[in-house]
Amino acid sequence: MKKLEEVLEDWEAVIGLEVHAELTTLTTKMFCGCKLEFGADPNTHTCPVCLGLPGALPVPNKAAIESIVLAGLATNCDIEKRSMFYRKNYMYPDMAKNFQTTQGPVAFCMRGHLDLQVDGKAAGERYRLDRLSAGDEAENIRRTADGYVAHVGITRIHMEEDAGKMNHVGGGEGRIAGATHSLVDYNRAGTPLIELVTEPDLRTPEEARLFMQKLRQIYLAIGISDCSMEEGSLRCDGNISLRRRGTEKFGTKTELKNLNSFKSLHDGLLYEICRQAEVLEEGGRIYQETRHWDPSLKHTIVMRTKETADDYRLFPEPDLAPYDLSDEFIESVRRKLPELPDQKAARFERAYGLSSYDARHVVENDFTVEFFEGAMAQAGDKAADLAKPLVNLALNDVTASVNAGVSIHLLTPRRAVQLVDLAASNAISSKQVKEVFSAVLEEDKDPAVIVEERGMKQVSDTGAIEAVIDRVLSDNPDKVEQYRGGKVGLMGFFVGQCMKAMKGQGNPKVINEILASKLG
Ligand code: ADP
Ligand code: ZN
Ligand code: MG
Repeated sequence: MKKLEEVLEDWEAVIGLEVHAELTTLTTKMFCGCKLEFGADPNTHTCPVCLGLPGALPVPNKAAIESIVLAGLATNCDIEKRSMFYRKNYMYPDMAKNFQTTQGPVAFCMRGHLDLQVDGKAAGERYRLDRLSAGDEAENIRRTADGYVAHVGITRIHMEEDAGKMNHVGGGEGRIAGATHSLVDYNRAGTPLIELVTEPDLRTPEEARLFMQKLRQIYLAIGISDCSMEEGSLRCDGNISLRRRGTEKFGTKTELKNLNSFKSLHDGLLYEICRQAEVLEEGGRIYQETRHWDPSLKHTIVMRTKETADDYRLFPEPDLAPYDLSDEFIESVRRKLPELPDQKAARFERAYGLSSYDARHVVENDFTVEFFEGAMAQAGDKAADLAKPLVNLALNDVTASVNAGVSIHLLTPRRAVQLVDLAASNAISSKQVKEVFSAVLEEDKDPAVIVEERGMKQVSDTGAIEAVIDRVLSDNPDKVEQYRGGKVGLMGFFVGQCMKAMKGQGNPKVINEILASKLG
C-alpha cells in the first residue's frame, strides 16, 4: 500500500465523525428513576420502563436535557426550543422495548462548530500547506504562523438511550461466534447518551484526532461525562471516503468502528484512506459498509455491508410530549457554562505569559491541564517565573510518563514546583531535572531530598568555580593561545576540563559564563 503522503497527492480524504457520549455524571436513567451504576450485579437496576413492559410510561430526565443543552452551547450550536423524541424500531435481545427512543430530524442542538488549531507534525498531513502563507484562507482553513486553524461544522447533537449488554458464553473471548448461549444485563438499558455528528469537513487523520481530543476536553470541562474511550463512555465512529483532487462529488464512504483510543482513531483512518486508494487505483469500487479496525493487526475488516438503507420506521414517540424549552431554561443552563479549553488557554497566555503554542497544548489533555494548574496554584509569587519550565515538564516528561502508562500522582503540585525551582535557581541542571523527575516517581520522595541524597547539588558558587577555571587555564597555556587565535571550538574542551575537575557537579551555565569572560 502507498503511504498517506503519496495517496494525498492524488486523492482528497473526506472524513466525518459520529461521537457517542454516555452521560455518566447523571445519577438516574433517561426515562425512569433507575440508578446509573457501572459494574453493579446484572439486572439489579431495572424497572418496567427500561425493561419495556407493556403500558409502562417514560418520564424524561431533566438533568439529561440540561447536559445536552450544555454540550450544545459549549460547541457553538443553536439550541432548538422545539424538538421531540422518535421510536427507532428494531429487534435485538439487548433492547427489550423493540425500539430505541431517539430524536428525529430536529435535535436539541443543531448547526455548531469547533475550530481546531493544528500545528507541528500534525499540520504536516494537510496537503500542500506550504503553498499558503500566514493569514491566507483556503476551503475551511486559515494558515497560521506554525500551522493552520480548521473550521469543523457540527451537524447536530441529539439525545438517545443506550441498550442493555449481551454476554455471550462459551465462545472465544466473549464473542458470539461459537457461543452456546447468551445472557442479557439490562442495567445499561436506558442510559442517556448524546450523539454528536460532524459535517464531512475533516481532511486528515490528525484533524479527526484533534477534534476528538478537543471535544473530550470540552465534555470534561462541562462535566457531563467521564469520557473514557477505554471503557466506552466516549465512542467514535469514523466515516471516510476519497475523491480525486480537484473534483467536487463525494465518493462512497465506509464507516469505521472500534476506534477506542486517540491512536486507533488516527491509525484506523490513515489505514482506511490508503486501503481505499489502493482499491480505487486498481479499478475496484468502494462498497458502503461498516468496517472494524483491528489495532494489533493494523487493518480494517468488513463487519456488515449496507446494500440497502436500513428502515427503522422512525415515528414520533406517542408517550412523550414534544419539547418546548423556554428562554429562561436555556439561559439558566448558559450561566452554568464553566471556562472552556480555548478560554483557559487564552487566560494562561494572559496571566502567565505563555506562548499560544504552549497554552493550547497544555489544555489539550486533562492530565497536563491538571498538572499545570495544580502546580501554578502552589507556585505563589514565583508563578510567572516557573510557568514556562512547568509547561515544559507537562508537555515532555509528564506526557511521556502518562503515555507509557506510568502514574504521575507522586509528583504532587508542591513537588513539581520544588523540582523546577531547583533548576531555576541553578541548584541542578536541566538535564538533572529528568533524573530527579523519574526518581520522585520511583522513590516517592521530595525533589530536594533526592538531590541531597544523590549529591546532585551543582556547585554554583562563583568563587569555587573561578578557582577551578584558573587552574585549568594555567595548566593549558597552549590551548588558551589557540583559542584566542580564533579556535573557539576549544570552549568545549575547557568546559569539559572544569566539569571533570568538579566531578560533574559544576553548574555548566556559570562555568560557561566565567570562562567566556576570562578568555574573551
Ligand atoms: P448515514 O446516512 O450513512 O448515517 P449521514 O449522512 O447521516 O450518513 O452521515 C453520517 C456521518 O458521515 C457524518 O459525520 C457525515 O459528515 C459523514 N459523511 C457523510 N457522507 C460522507 C462521505 N461521502 N464521506 C465521508 N463522510 C461522510
Ligand atoms: Zn428503569
Ligand atoms: Mg446517519
